[in-house]
Amino acid sequence: MRILILGAAGFLGSHLVDRFLREGHTVVGMDNFITGSPTNLEHLANESAFSFVEHDVSQFIDLDGPVGGVLHFASPASPIDYLKLPIQTLKVGSLGTHNALGLAKAKSARFLLASTSEVYGDPAVHPQPESYWGHVNPVGPRGVYDEAKRFAEAMTMAYHRYHEVDTRIVRIFNTYGPRMRPADGRVVSNFIVQALQGRPITVYGDGSQTRSFCFVDDLIEGIFRLFERGGADPVNIGNDGEFTVRELAEKVTSLVGSRSSVVTEALPEDDPRQRRPDLSLANTTLDWRPQITLDEGLARTVEYFRQAIHA
Ligand code: NAD
Ligand code: UDP
Repeated sequence: MRILILGAAGFLGSHLVDRFLREGHTVVGMDNFITGSPTNLEHLANESAFSFVEHDVSQFIDLDGPVGGVLHFASPASPIDYLKLPIQTLKVGSLGTHNALGLAKAKSARFLLASTSEVYGDPAVHPQPESYWGHVNPVGPRGVYDEAKRFAEAMTMAYHRYHEVDTRIVRIFNTYGPRMRPADGRVVSNFIVQALQGRPITVYGDGSQTRSFCFVDDLIEGIFRLFERGGADPVNIGNDGEFTVRELAEKVTSLVGSRSSVVTEALPEDDPRQRRPDLSLANTTLDWRPQITLDEGLARTVEYFRQAIHA
């Protein structure tokens, strides 16, 4: 099958490209490098089954030839990125999703949307099942990302219901691993880079807020299964081990063997208090569960960053 991956030069998009190539598919990657990097794809320079198109997917997407699958992973994803790029984030979630769905419809291709646990906002239900409608501030700074993704889900369901496009929606919970940018700004990359460089670990607020961290290989396996044999309803994919940000800081410093101190910085506006996926649906419909513990995943990620920043 010929697969189009939007956001292919990003952290998750580049891992997905590798996975579809490994399964024997031909892959076209598309990206405008707004938060991604050609470095994430440079290992594919001599891969004849892979080609790349530089394009902003918020503009009409033109691609000749057959396409069997479109996976929409293009969007700034780190809070520091989408707060810096609010209009681009809204556009790629809305216009970009519309363009991607239009292409999928024209090519009779399967479509998969990368949605997010942020559609649950600062959740009042814990852990979060897919049936929870969420608690999002539409006019707060994070609204540009959360509402773009909520719109993207609604658009995907509309194409499914009214145009009978074969669609999937994955709600991704905090994922980490190799190919995150050192300056990506998300908590795992920040803490690891700070610990490796012996700089203070920046905990926002009192660090009692929780997140559930999924290693990238587990996530990619879940997404691949969803693409292959899932249905149109949204599915949570993540890891349901829940940790406070302070616990994460302790784990990272002890793993790196760093003497970094912890400094407290202001908690960003609307920062969710808690987050943990209810994984029952992925477990029953995809026979999928995460396999990699936080300790193991962090160890692999530390090795990656050691090389990436020569620490
Ligand atoms: P990333 O920033 O590393 O990758 C996003 C990629 O999309 C980048 O290469 C960027 O250049 C590209 N892009 C952005 N706007 C574009 C546009 N208009 N046209 C073409 N390319 C564009 O982020 P990531 O962590 O790999 O996230 C990928 C997807 O997964 C995003 O849709 C994100 O919302 C979603 N997601 C990620 C996580 C996570 O924990 N990593 C969690 C929830 C959802
Ligand atoms: N955070 C932190 N220090 C950092 C970066 C993030 O304490 O250097 C906190 C942030 O306030 C949030 C959690 O870590 O509570 C996860 O942040 P991230 O940006 O990784 O993703 P989010 O889940 O908020 O989208």
